[in-house]
Amino acid sequence: MIESAYETYDVAILGAGFEGGLLGTILARQGAKVLLIESGTHPRFAVGESTVRHVFRMLKIIGERYDVPEIIEKFSSADSIHKHVTTMCGEKRNFGFVYHREGQDQNASECTQLVIPPFREGYEAHLYRQDIDSFLTYTAINHGATVHYRTSIADIDIQDDGCTLTSSQGDVFKSRYIVDGSGYRSVLAMKFRLREEPSRCSTFSRSLFTHMLNVTPYDATVTPRGAHGMPQPWYSGTCHHIFDGGWLWVIPFNNREGSTNPLVSVGLQLDPRRWPKPRDVTPEQEFHHFLERFPSMAAQFEKARAVRDWVSTERIQFSSKRTVGDRYCLMAHASGFIDPLFSRGLPNACELINALAVRLLRAFKDDDFSPERFDYIERMQQINLDYNDRLVNCAYISFKSFELWNAFFRVWVLGVGLGDLRLTSAHRRFTATHDESVLPDAEEPMGLFFAHHTGYKKLFEEACDKVEAFEAGTVSAHDAARHIFELMAAADYAAPANHLADPSKRYVDQGETVTVLKTVAWLLTSAPPDIKKMGGGILSDLNPRRLMSRKVTPEPSAI
Ligand SMILES: Cc1cc2nc3c(=O)[nH]c(=O)nc-3n(C[C@H](O)[C@H](O)[C@H](O)COP(=O)(O)OP(=O)(O)OC[C@H]3O[C@@H](n4cnc5c(N)ncnc54)[C@H](O)[C@@H]3O)c2cc1C
Repeated sequence: MIESAYETYDVAILGAGFEGGLLGTILARQGAKVLLIESGTHPRFAVGESTVRHVFRMLKIIGERYDVPEIIEKFSSADSIHKHVTTMCGEKRNFGFVYHREGQDQNASECTQLVIPPFREGYEAHLYRQDIDSFLTYTAINHGATVHYRTSIADIDIQDDGCTLTSSQGDVFKSRYIVDGSGYRSVLAMKFRLREEPSRCSTFSRSLFTHMLNVTPYDATVTPRGAHGMPQPWYSGTCHHIFDGGWLWVIPFNNREGSTNPLVSVGLQLDPRRWPKPRDVTPEQEFHHFLERFPSMAAQFEKARAVRDWVSTERIQFSSKRTVGDRYCLMAHASGFIDPLFSRGLPNACELINALAVRLLRAFKDDDFSPERFDYIERMQQINLDYNDRLVNCAYISFKSFELWNAFFRVWVLGVGLGDLRLTSAHRRFTATHDESVLPDAEEPMGLFFAHHTGYKKLFEEACDKVEAFEAGTVSAHDAARHIFELMAAADYAAPANHLADPSKRYVDQGETVTVLKTVAWLLTSAPPDIKKMGGGILSDLNPRRLMSRKVTPEPSAI
């Protein structure tokens, strides 16, 4: 038995991944006695690579709120990670969606793109998780956390006065509280039978993924070059090849200047009701058989080779009846998961950690761990799952028709765009005052980034109703799409310069000079008061130097 067995830690965190490492860092920095227990070691492969605005905005808030210099200086933008943490990550300048029909060449007029403007945090990132997760764990250690690798917890006993954890090797650890960051196979979910069987989620997908070498930038396979007429090359962001019943991600790590990583993350999501899992082929064979049915996608992978074994899963959705109990809490990825579409995993993780850390620190101080004190965490995790499920499920339904996807795409774009504005406003106010009442966890959790807004909530629900009616066969794709465009036209809280109600404008680029100027003018003058309020201070965010030097990423052949 090891020496430290009978020390009592404030918290035992299971799993030293993104979530465990980040929470461990914060709590240790704040003086808590932290034990991290990890069944593997670093470096280790993990997916969860593509970020959205919410991730770095939340990290900035977390860094300031919990006074963690490493997060502020090294871990709150793609640039700072590249400079201070690792040169192995890629860059994400857009969310690209290319629509494919089985057996046909891709039609260049069927695509949509959300361009990420370089304001504030700069561009988004493709995180090479093995470097990111080890950085977070080492930072936790640097602040005093104790880490045990290659330690699997076989049994947990939770009493009124504390918790006892026993590893499969017989080591014993004691803590006042347990946070489970061990992901899908969550130790606590298994022990307390917290999983819903079957899951309540409507989304239905399975996944196949790996890292590859020699993936040709999709742009280089398109003739004539630039035929899609999008502002950014597909390869400069996360490319989603979408089709009836699923989508394929392409997340390059080699697309940023100075990257030292030749790899590209590739993952195929399939609805098993449409694409049943074959039992007689390897995952790699299944991937290649799939590509034979989509000639334009196949061109991107002609020379590609996997550098590690493919992972092939069963259904990836899971949910939990409860996520908080006596002296324990499940983290975001241990609580439930929908699908990688729209990259909601890491933002959920950051939102949860921001809200959980402050509640834990108070509980340590008061020596009171009653579950009611963590009730907010429970509500947040459940509502995040439900809203994200509806969003993703409707996106999958809309993949049956490009016209419908082109409409539904905007429902998501509007929500993330306004959600960014809202979070930026909270961050700005928090930086100025350090008043915690302006932070997201002071409000009732909302599930989507902008679902508190009555106009957007209504639009979201009506749009989803239409998409679901299309699935039920009571409305055509054309009529459902038309209805969504009408909702967009009526949304006076959406910046008109983005032309969300115009089906022929298939991209949104907030970084275009004309769009920026028009949007800022609208925000300062004719936007509804609540939106105008969030836009206060926006001029200082625009960073004219960055905007002026905004250039399209290099031609793919030069990458
Ligand atoms: C196919 C797929 C693609 C995804 N893509 C994205 C994306 O692009 N963007 C995004 O934001 N999110 C994405 N996600 C979600 C994302 O992966 C998670 O949100 C994120 O990885 C959560 O990090 P984590 O540290 O909680 O969990 P994990 O990364 O799963 O880490 C769990 C840790 O716990 C350890 N562990 C497991 N069991 C035990 C045990 N018994 N005892 C101790 N330690 C244990 C593991 O070794 C691991 O280190 C994706 C998810 C999937 C399934």
